[in-house]
Amino acid sequence: MAKKRILILGSGISGLSSAWHLAKKSNEYDCILLEKSKTPGGWMGSHKEQDFLIEGGPRVFKTSRNAELLQIVDEIDFASSLLPSSPTAKARFLWTDGKFQKVPKLSFSLLHSLWKERKIPPVFEDETIWDFAARRFGKDIAEKLVDPMVLGIYAGDSKTLSVEACFPFLKTLEKEHGSVIKGIFSLRKKKKKKSTFRAPLFSFQEGTGSFIQKWQEKIPFPIHYDQEITSLRKENGIWKAQSQNQTWEADEVILAIPAASAAKLLQTEAPKTSELLQSIPYEDITTLHLGWKGDVLPFSAFGYLVPTLEKEPVLGVLFDTKMFGKKDTLITVMVRGAFHSREELKNIAKRVATHHLKISQEPDLFSYKKMARAIPQYVIGHPQKKEALLKALKEETEDLHLVGNYLDGVSVNDCIKNAGKVVEANFFQNLPT
Ligand SMILES: Cc1cc2nc3c(=O)[nH]c(=O)nc-3n(C[C@H](O)[C@H](O)[C@H](O)COP(=O)(O)OP(=O)(O)OC[C@H]3O[C@@H](n4cnc5c(N)ncnc54)[C@H](O)[C@@H]3O)c2cc1C
Repeated sequence: MAKKRILILGSGISGLSSAWHLAKKSNEYDCILLEKSKTPGGWMGSHKEQDFLIEGGPRVFKTSRNAELLQIVDEIDFASSLLPSSPTAKARFLWTDGKFQKVPKLSFSLLHSLWKERKIPPVFEDETIWDFAARRFGKDIAEKLVDPMVLGIYAGDSKTLSVEACFPFLKTLEKEHGSVIKGIFSLRKKKKKKSTFRAPLFSFQEGTGSFIQKWQEKIPFPIHYDQEITSLRKENGIWKAQSQNQTWEADEVILAIPAASAAKLLQTEAPKTSELLQSIPYEDITTLHLGWKGDVLPFSAFGYLVPTLEKEPVLGVLFDTKMFGKKDTLITVMVRGAFHSREELKNIAKRVATHHLKISQEPDLFSYKKMARAIPQYVIGHPQKKEALLKALKEETEDLHLVGNYLDGVSVNDCIKNAGKVVEANFFQNLPT
């Protein structure tokens, strides 16, 4: 029997993961990946500028939360290229009231809030992350701990994001144990499977781009670059994807592209699905890279976050080199929005270097990247929207699947895990073993 032809649109983490899973059944499926840009990886990738290794998007991964990523690293025989974090990388700071404060700063009021949390009755409905944190732990913790943490992960507003969608485990702990603290203690008693990799955080010696390159080489399907798909239709049971110079045909399609791009392609074949996809909001950010020869940072840490109440354009600053114990200094400043002029970004850089970090030397490297629609926002109502979206998709199309960071988690590991689930559910059933 002829193999089924699958098209995967997009070769970011979700697209590559879909292909990687499909490769396990490569005797059943012929697969092609189509990518709009000239390289794979989507947001994940790295390059060198003036000898500094610049990461475009994700750069550092928590060992305990990246089992699926580490499994791929093993499968492609790349474990020797892992870069473990230095012991000081665990330290995180806040920039608040004009100074740095270590988090969490153990104080009587923090311990008191945690102690009191055990007695707060659970609420079963979804609520914003802010409301959840303020209700259970108090306004101070919502403002000074939870809000900056949300900025660090989602670049988003804890007063609009859904706790159920962004931190489902917190809501589950509350529902199942009546309290987050009680839940955490009962989970600690259960033995966790430990990774063989020991450092708490990791990256890759030659950058995330080296991992993407090696992974892509091991995927047994072709990737065609410069192939932005501008229309997608189904004719006589065959999917046809049109780029500027070619029509690609397939029996099934996996859309591994951002929600708005998928919405555009589905306007005709699946209008309701398209409308729901289009309504998923995203935040824009700018990453600003500053580099110095030698170690100029005043302290060792992962970096620091800036709570919203400080009213700064900066969300947080990552100490890229310090967290891996390197001798030169590279920091990435995460800036709200993607609208600042070069001059404004220069001023932000200056403020971070001289006012926050007290570095008087001019940086040897100043570069930036504006990232429109960088991170999807799971606002209140996201779980219901996701359900409606998957229902509409089922009603309006056949043999078309959605994967990506706008559904079930924005982290790289979530993208890998969720693409695996979609592939298993739709392509591994009813196959001869
Ligand atoms: C600045 C930043 C920092 C981050 N830091 C971390 C971190 O530290 N840890 C972590 O776990 N996660 C992090 N994330 C999140 C994580 O990187 C992303 O959620 C994840 O990489 C998304 O992967 P994806 O494949 O779903 O989407 P994308 O990376 O957006 O990939 C989609 C791909 O589809 C292509 N495409 C789009 N339209 C078309 C079309 N019409 N035809 C063909 N191809 C198309 C695009 O070119 C792209 O390659 C970060 C994200 C950003 C932006």
